[in-house]
Amino acid sequence: MTRFGMVMDVTKCNGCYNCFISCKDEYCGNEHKGYSAALPMTGQTFLTVVEKERGQYPKVKVDYVAHLCQQCDAMPCGNGHPDAVYMRDDGIVIIDPKKAAGLKDIVGRCPYRVITWNEEKEVAQKCTMCAHLLDDGWKEPRCVESCPTGALVFGDLDDPNSDISKLVKSAKTEQLANYKLGEKVCYVGLPKEFIAGAVVFGDKDECAKDVDVILESEGKTVAATKTDGFGDFEFEGLAAPTQYQVRVVAAGYDPKAVDVKLYKSVNLGDIVL
Ligand code: SF4
Ligand code: SF4
Repeated sequence: MTRFGMVMDVTKCNGCYNCFISCKDEYCGNEHKGYSAALPMTGQTFLTVVEKERGQYPKVKVDYVAHLCQQCDAMPCGNGHPDAVYMRDDGIVIIDPKKAAGLKDIVGRCPYRVITWNEEKEVAQKCTMCAHLLDDGWKEPRCVESCPTGALVFGDLDDPNSDISKLVKSAKTEQLANYKLGEKVCYVGLPKEFIAGAVVFGDKDECAKDVDVILESEGKTVAATKTDGFGDFEFEGLAAPTQYQVRVVAAGYDPKAVDVKLYKSVNLGDIVL
């Protein structure tokens, strides 16, 4: 059986918005019978690129995460409307534009908030995974085809030889949220929180290179690193909210410890030994 899905590798996305633009190009003003009424030129989209900014100047990171229908097997969007919302044999969830006409409550049934209301056509709409193109023999949807960095991968999750299956097997994938709805869209490298800073030798007023920096939580070592040539250090991919302690140890200097209650990524600034 074919079971279509998509993986987004967030670490490969450069924020070019090609996926967003190509999706708009495919659906704005264009009706695709059985799958979607024409989208208005403004105000509605099937795919949103969400910018996630972390840290504080000068240690700031920006990631881009594509939000679109997660193609959930459980289909909570269809609750109460089994005729209007259905799943194709290949796993793609479709809101039938004719049968769903006037059913505005469908919009609020998606926990991922990816269904929008078309005021003019009076119908709830979402990503169709470009089902009309797949029916025409396309190998991938418009957004995937237009991605220049290969951040979006589409294919048959049930085919062990497909690129998407190999990626799911080789990389640590995650869901956008922990709803456990049998989502067939997943992600690699979703941004987590980080602690960064710099160490300075106060007596020499210079960057402290190759100094040990240890990250602890509840008395246990979580991670350890050394400062680089600029005295900088960073611990990525941390759980939050969590209480941490950053310890800095350098031969010939008194050790320093900084307590951090981590809610959001933080730049500790200079730690002077
Ligand atoms: S992400 Fe939302 S619209 Fe898409 S299948 Fe899941 S519940 Fe339905
Ligand atoms: S799969 Fe098609 S409909 Fe869905 S976001 Fe991509 S381009 Fe838009």
